[in-house]
Amino acid sequence: MSAFVLKCGKLFDGVSDRLTGPAEILVEGDRITEIGPSVRRPSDAQTVDLSERTVSPGFIDTHVHLTMDAADLAQQTLKSSAAKALKGLNIAREYMRYGFTTLRDMGSADPEFPTVDLRDAINSGLVQGPRLLVAAHIISASAGHGDLRGFYASRWNIPVSAIADDAGAIKALVRREHTYGSDWIKTTNTGGYFSPGDDSARVTWFDDELNVLVATARQLGMPVAVHTGAAEGCKQAIRAGVRSLEHAYLIDQEALRMAKQAGMFVVPTMQMTQEDLKALHSHTLPCQAVWKFSRDNGRIVESQRLIAQSDVKIAYGTDCGMFPFSHGILEFEAMVAAGLTPVRALKAATCIAAELLNQEDIGVLAVGKHADIVAMPGDPLADIGVTAKVDFVMKGGSIYRGRGRV
Ligand SMILES: [Zn+2]
Repeated sequence: MSAFVLKCGKLFDGVSDRLTGPAEILVEGDRITEIGPSVRRPSDAQTVDLSERTVSPGFIDTHVHLTMDAADLAQQTLKSSAAKALKGLNIAREYMRYGFTTLRDMGSADPEFPTVDLRDAINSGLVQGPRLLVAAHIISASAGHGDLRGFYASRWNIPVSAIADDAGAIKALVRREHTYGSDWIKTTNTGGYFSPGDDSARVTWFDDELNVLVATARQLGMPVAVHTGAAEGCKQAIRAGVRSLEHAYLIDQEALRMAKQAGMFVVPTMQMTQEDLKALHSHTLPCQAVWKFSRDNGRIVESQRLIAQSDVKIAYGTDCGMFPFSHGILEFEAMVAAGLTPVRALKAATCIAAELLNQEDIGVLAVGKHADIVAMPGDPLADIGVTAKVDFVMKGGSIYRGRGRV
């Protein structure tokens, strides 16, 4: 069993509002076994000097698409499941270097289950990578955000979309996700921006359709995450009892109050809006997104301010895959720019994200928890930008970046 003593300059433990330290963390095997001003020194322990660093629980990105590439979605979707999984593995490992030790993948456009295979390969130790929780597909109504058939000629009937239009078919899709290993059910109850033939301002499920989806997931013990845009879509999703609202592009005060009352999580993907604004101004936004995003961008930014001003539970999620993973770390800065305090942004990526995912052994630095630990120079409460300078990453007691790497 390997052992490390991490000498930490400052410590963000994932739940406190302030930094503490200096402190030491003893890691034995894959767990944290001691934290304090000075810890035991097992004879085989390797010491890692992080005395010039702020140490934090590993970051959690609760909304990525490892197997989707929006740079050319229509073409990339046609690639084989194996090609998507292999590329996704490479992306996941690279993304872990930024400090993301856990990811929730929010869906692939593929007839098979490439993200489930990827998760299982990592869990079994076949390959190294971050912890993964996955929703294999995006269950959608026909003509909804998850229906990508509009990219192709109708005669091709390409089976890349998980679509259903009646209660029986919706139940079957949810149960299929469970059978083949999804951790989460991902659905979409409004249109989106990068998909063809739908509109984020319109609700695409009827109430009874979303209700049967959520009820079926609940019966199987699976939480539901819903891509949602229009305020009416946010309210429909809250009434149906989903666990997280993804994007909530056009959420209003009333929906935020409902979300707060229901204890629901919001994953506002704020950096993506910044990426889309840049693309809009440089005329590189995909044509199917231009008319919708040109109309809505001011309201999206305003909704993100309302989210920041509210006291709903905000979890860190980026939608990377829809933009390059190398920019996913910038969600911290986007959150603070929208009005979150730096410590709330840090908690969004640690303890709140862990709560959303029902993973009590991550997102906090405490004895008995998984040794998922990152370090960065400077003070992230004074300058959130230092989160982009992570140079030490440990997952489950193994060092993936920085001094002491195995
Ligand atoms: Zn997404």
